[in-house]
Amino acid sequence: MDAKIRLYVDHPLGAGQSVPLDRGQAHYLFGVMRQQVGAAVLLFNGRDGEWRATVTQAGKRGGELSVTDQSGPQRMPPDLWLCFAPIKKARTDFIVEKAAEMGAARIIPMQTEFTNAGRVQRDRLQAHAIEAAEQCGGTFVPQVDEMVRFDRLLDEWSGNRHIMFCDEALHDVPVTPLAGEPAPWAIFIGPEGGFSARERDRLRALDLAVPVSLGPRILRADTAAVAALTLWQSALGDWS
Ligand code: SAM
Repeated sequence: MDAKIRLYVDHPLGAGQSVPLDRGQAHYLFGVMRQQVGAAVLLFNGRDGEWRATVTQAGKRGGELSVTDQSGPQRMPPDLWLCFAPIKKARTDFIVEKAAEMGAARIIPMQTEFTNAGRVQRDRLQAHAIEAAEQCGGTFVPQVDEMVRFDRLLDEWSGNRHIMFCDEALHDVPVTPLAGEPAPWAIFIGPEGGFSARERDRLRALDLAVPVSLGPRILRADTAAVAALTLWQSALGDWS
């Protein structure tokens, strides 16, 4: 039987492994998707590739799967972080979902001077990243960090990770072609109010930061995140 449902599990995967299902997974698989004992499912855990499995126990509060054989290799994304200032809840969810689909390796919500979103629920955002990976056929789930202050993020910046600094002040200059080492990189997207002058100066003073235009119009932060991921992936990432 062809398995269509893909499930992320935090459990080792290999032929003959039993994989327990938690309440949420059991609800999804047996309550929402109406699967029963014997049904075929595809599993991934972000490390071991994709595996076929069969439902061996189905209950309301849990269940069990038995792993049969490998259906695909582990595919890692490029070492690209998306650092963004959270905006309204639904738009923040959108950014996380799209970043996971488009191949970001890590997602970092950052508190900038003009960030006016409330508290970020990391677990909810992580669940969105998992769901996006399940839907898009990925075998990797980007980690979503707790919100970090912009200054602290830069104070602790280490190594040679370049920054694609999406600077709305450059909207009247032509889109900057990206070049250089493929990774590691991080994309920086500001909040609705943009980066403050001080934050802009701080980024511009970094040798590792490349100020980038995303075209002649000022994009909303969620649009800007998708545009920046597209530019980076097509120039330096795994789309080419
Ligand atoms: N309030 C700001 C203004 O009017 O100038 C706009 C901020 S914009 C809604 C949110 C973020 O998207 C910006 O901080 C920037 O990172 C990115 N962005 C939007 N349009 C851009 C563009 N044309 N070029 C570069 N970055 C852009």
